[in-house]
Amino acid sequence: MASPANHHDTAYQQSSGKLVLLLVFFCLTILVCLSAAVFYDYQKKTISEAAQVNLTMLTNLKARQVGHWRHERIIHARLLTANRDLLNSIASFSTQRTPDRANHIIQSLTPALSDSEDHAIVLTDALGKPILSVGDNINLETHIDPKPLIMALERHQVMFSKLFHVHGNTTGYHHGHSHADVHTTHVHMNLIAPLYRDGNPTQEVVGALVFIVNPEQFLVPLMTSWPVPSPSAESILVRKVDDSILRLTPSRHMVSPEMLVSAKPPKGYESPGSRILAEKEGVFLGYDYRQVPVLASVKKVDDSPWYLVAKIDKNEVMAPLFRIAAIEAVTATLILATAGLMMLLWWRRQQALYQAGYYQQQLQHQMLSQRFDNLTRFANDLVLLVDAEGQIIDANERALDTYGYPEGELKTFKLKDLCDLSQQECDLFWEQLKAEQGVRFETMQFRHDGSTFPVEINARWIELDRGHLIQAIIRDISERKAAEDQLIHQAYHDPLTGLPNRLLINDRLKLAIAKARRHKTQAVLLLLDLDRFKNINDTLGHAVGDRILTTLALRMQEALRDTDTVARFSGDEFLVLLEDIRELSDVVSLAQKLSELVSQPVIIDGEEMCLTTSIGISVAPEDSIEVDQLIRFADTAMYRAKEKGRNNFQFYTPDMNAHAGRRLQLENNLRKALQRQEMVVYYQPQVEMDSGRIVGSEALLRWMHPEHGLISPSDFIPLAEETGVIEEIGAWALEQACQQTVAWQKNHPELKIAVNLSARQFRNENLVDDIEQILNKTGLAARHLEMELTESLLMEDVDVAIDLMNRLTKLGITLAIDDFGTGYSSLSHLNRFPIDKLKIDRSFVNSMSLDNCGIARTIITLGRTLDLSIIAEGVETDEQRQLLLQLGCPQAQGYYFSRPIHDNAFSEMLKKPTILPNS
Ligand code: C2E
Ligand code: CA
Ligand code: CA
Repeated sequence: MASPANHHDTAYQQSSGKLVLLLVFFCLTILVCLSAAVFYDYQKKTISEAAQVNLTMLTNLKARQVGHWRHERIIHARLLTANRDLLNSIASFSTQRTPDRANHIIQSLTPALSDSEDHAIVLTDALGKPILSVGDNINLETHIDPKPLIMALERHQVMFSKLFHVHGNTTGYHHGHSHADVHTTHVHMNLIAPLYRDGNPTQEVVGALVFIVNPEQFLVPLMTSWPVPSPSAESILVRKVDDSILRLTPSRHMVSPEMLVSAKPPKGYESPGSRILAEKEGVFLGYDYRQVPVLASVKKVDDSPWYLVAKIDKNEVMAPLFRIAAIEAVTATLILATAGLMMLLWWRRQQALYQAGYYQQQLQHQMLSQRFDNLTRFANDLVLLVDAEGQIIDANERALDTYGYPEGELKTFKLKDLCDLSQQECDLFWEQLKAEQGVRFETMQFRHDGSTFPVEINARWIELDRGHLIQAIIRDISERKAAEDQLIHQAYHDPLTGLPNRLLINDRLKLAIAKARRHKTQAVLLLLDLDRFKNINDTLGHAVGDRILTTLALRMQEALRDTDTVARFSGDEFLVLLEDIRELSDVVSLAQKLSELVSQPVIIDGEEMCLTTSIGISVAPEDSIEVDQLIRFADTAMYRAKEKGRNNFQFYTPDMNAHAGRRLQLENNLRKALQRQEMVVYYQPQVEMDSGRIVGSEALLRWMHPEHGLISPSDFIPLAEETGVIEEIGAWALEQACQQTVAWQKNHPELKIAVNLSARQFRNENLVDDIEQILNKTGLAARHLEMELTESLLMEDVDVAIDLMNRLTKLGITLAIDDFGTGYSSLSHLNRFPIDKLKIDRSFVNSMSLDNCGIARTIITLGRTLDLSIIAEGVETDEQRQLLLQLGCPQAQGYYFSRPIHDNAFSEMLKKPTILPNS
């Protein structure tokens, strides 16, 4: 029976903890990624900006350098054309071209040539025809572009030609260098400087100096150089030609880097070409001739048609960014992995801790359940575990056996489904259970086969691992109920005839009187006394007497209506109660009929016996509405019938006071009996059944009447009760008995004394004090005194009786229930009384035989289960003694051992070790 309720909570906590952890991790991831992205973006911007600035600066620098170079060359050329010496030499050479004069010119030009590292300087006439050249031996036809030459001469302007191809072998004329390889085409450019008469530009042009410029000397190296090593960066000089562009310097990324390559910039995206066509300068992102994304910068070279393009692959620019991104990615991954790992480890640890706690708890629960299981599984009672809705959730073996349901089916029921309770009762018990710790009640239970059995249910709350549950301990009280029923029946019936007894007829009479008054009818009581029955008993023996009584009882029972009651009142007296009588004539005929029935012969062992009966009749409510009085009146009438010669019947009449007179007399005498010392206490020994050893005695009153002789307590105790004299007499008897016992205890220190307590005494408020006083006065130890109480006495008001009994036992005395089984006591109350002993009534002992000892056995068993001592009263024969011994009854009193006797006789008896008759 284990399934922890709070496991759900912790499992929930656990899963929510997991969720929180995942959320934290998720947030951390986002944070790290976001900051990485921001950082990346920032880096990207910075890098790109730096790259743009660098590129722009570089472009401007190079463009300025190229512009500078051009400017310098023009200044240089102008200076040369203004050189007087050269001009004079040229003038003189034009008049007479002698080698000498030519040499003179050459000498003047050579320094300029070596400064400039040009291929050659050519001198032309005013029409542009070459006259002589200095420098490499070159083909003047191909190396001079005539168009710009003419333009320069016409415009009187120093001018650069375009760059142009020159085909053919140039080896050998390369000034200052000697290339081993052979170039088939070369690019050249001319710088043309017109010569003026007297060096004055306002004068006529006399010729021109044409510088054969080698771009590979300055421009190409300038373009191909880069301040830092870069795998993709390049700068190119470009010129616009109509709607296409011309790359003047070699492109680094071409398969064969050539100069003067013409190209049409592709449309649709930005490229350096498209920028130049649009004559736009500046830095931008676009695509180059390879269609590769580049960061490019365009700058126009001052005073020239040239544009300088510098560019670098975007990939290269962004390379550090990729590195940063990679580092960032690695860092972020590392951070996240570390954080994740730490979280995981922490989580694992938490989980391990939780698991450990959980299993420990689980173990505890299991141990608890196991213990509960072991406690209940094989218990003798039925144990059901019920949830707060009343649903059965577990049952022990005994319950399964008893109900006869398979375990699964039993668990489909609610506890109340098994109980024979009304909804109202159910609600009541349920409310009680909710309000208190537990509830105890008796009910009937249904078995699977539909049969029922009585139980006592003890339901209480218990705390198990599943929470608050109800444990119902269900005790099968069939045996107890049966015993109770049997005792109740026994209490109300005469054991010999099976007829209702005095107690039952009393009850019925009470009801009948009330009913008669209500219905304005009559209840009639007939008291039948068998005439001279004592004779039969004395001459033929009790056994015969008993058989006659049984036969007559049967006859009378058969003759009466169902509504009428016939009861055995005492030895040979019967009471007949007739209810709902309107005509007394009916009573007369019934009385006659009963007389006849009795007088019909009884045949026993072949012998015929004839009896007669005298009947006294009293009528309620006419004569009285008191039960006792009605009986007494019937008794009086019966005496009158006897006086009239027996075998007749008499209705009671108020003048029938003969009996009443006798009673009055007795009452008067009784008051004086104590003073006249007519009262005597007799003692009847109580013995150990097997050994016959005396363990105590019961004190029994006797009245030595001067005229009537020894009067039995049965005759005067009821009267003493009624008049209250019993209190005085009772106290005297108690003192007497205690005093006597103390005397006997000199030789028999453990001798006990049992004294009877009547109802009137029991109700006396001073009872406890009186007893205490008597004990003090006589010096008897309280534990040696036992008071005998009757059941009916206790049942009047159970709670008051318990209270009083508790006070009595506090004194130290013991309590016995007298005549046990003849009064009605609910056995459920019995265990509430603080009693020590049950006295089996002598009627049970009397009627006991080998195959009819049920009641005695029941009482003995009951005594054992309630942990009470048992003593049997009225043991008259050895057979009864043997039977009681077999049944396990340890003590007894009765005529078999001794009649109640005078103290002197008792003293004698005490001297013997055993009072068993045949020892
Ligand atoms: P009890 O308390 O049940 O006393 C036992 C009665 O059974 C006694 O009758 C006793 O003589 C009788 N008895 C004892 N052994 C046998 C036996 O083997 N066979 C038969 N047939 N009878 C036996 P007793 O002495 O006539 O007393 C009658 C009742 O009077 C007592 O019944 C008791 O209830 C009451 N009684 C006697 N003495 C006192 C007393 O001092 N105070 C009070 N309040 N009541 C007393
Ligand atoms: Ca008694
Ligand atoms: Ca008794």
